[in-house]
Amino acid sequence: MNEKKILVSGGAGFLGSHLCERLIEQGHDVLCVDNYYTGSKANLLPLLGHPRFELLRHDVTFPLYVEVDEIYNLACPASPIHYQYDPVQTTKTSVHGAINMLGLAKRVKARILQASTSEVYGDPEMHPQKESYWGNVNPIGIRSCYDEGKRCAETLFFDYYRQHRLRIKVARIFNTYGPRMHPNDGRVVSNFIVQALRNEPITLNGDGSQTRSFCYVDDLIEALLRLMATDDSFIGPVNTGNPTEFTIRELAEKVIELTGSRSTLVFAPLPSDDPMQRRPDISLAREKLGWEPTIQLEEGLKRTIAYFDELLASKG
Ligand code: NAD
Ligand code: UDP
Repeated sequence: MNEKKILVSGGAGFLGSHLCERLIEQGHDVLCVDNYYTGSKANLLPLLGHPRFELLRHDVTFPLYVEVDEIYNLACPASPIHYQYDPVQTTKTSVHGAINMLGLAKRVKARILQASTSEVYGDPEMHPQKESYWGNVNPIGIRSCYDEGKRCAETLFFDYYRQHRLRIKVARIFNTYGPRMHPNDGRVVSNFIVQALRNEPITLNGDGSQTRSFCYVDDLIEALLRLMATDDSFIGPVNTGNPTEFTIRELAEKVIELTGSRSTLVFAPLPSDDPMQRRPDISLAREKLGWEPTIQLEEGLKRTIAYFDELLASKG
């Protein structure tokens, strides 16, 4: 039998809700745990009441005693404005959350996947970023609670692997966007789309010349599923993201074009430690997961715009 009991921490968030949906479609039993810090039950509406889906309000900084075969550890706010709102809690969520989820995996001998991040590379001096790059991270800045928390979580994963022979998988996720991002999420794609649909000024930080590489959510979820399914010898870390790079200004112009918006561009100071460039080298994911993104920015933006258009219309 292929069906498994799978725990998704942070399952009520943007990525987590899409992951839960895919796992249910595949026939698994899914236990979603979330403290609703940035996620919501609304993201899981299509699954509530499903006989193989269970939702538990739980904060991963506290231990959890359940029986599962696999764990996806996604619990952690991902948007800078949200993870900087309570930075101590952000570090606790990454570090204590990882310890609790790893302890659980050890007790029940579950395979465990960590949602790590391109932020472990900081403001990278190597471009594009390969997994072998150790990063350029400020340990005491406003992004450090997230960056260093995620780096420490990776350390814990690898120590549990070496010390306790745990079956681990580490994905370094690059900027991912799509339907179910919160309209006030604060990340760039949702901000720009919501501003464009409302014909409000589009807020560019800095001069907009910093770059990011944007991955559509369906592609990213496929990468996580494939990573979890690799044999025990492959543990990562592996970059998962779309290697096509854009400046933030190009993104703003594309969003204006696709929405037909009357929005203008306004410029705000670049927040400190904001990385100037980011693009994954995905050779390893291609080789080990047989994966690469299939949905390019224009198509992904159209789908995301359609989602926000409907959402904003329903809110009046
Ligand atoms: P999100 O903020 O939408 O989801 C995070 C979820 O974790 C939310 O539902 C939130 O309520 C929950 N959560 C936060 N703290 C918790 C705690 N202490 N206990 C239980 N639940 C808690 O963000 P997302 O974009 O869905 O990101 C999911 C994961 O992927 C995060 O770990 C993030 O760091 C990682 N990631 C995302 C991206 C991206 O571009 N979306 C990029 C890199 C890494
Ligand atoms: N950004 C912007 N305007 C916004 C939100 C973000 O110009 O309204 C910029 C931000 O400064 C950064 C880039 O867009 O340079 C990506 O920001 P996001 O918060 O989405 O992700 P991260 O910086 O974590 O990659």
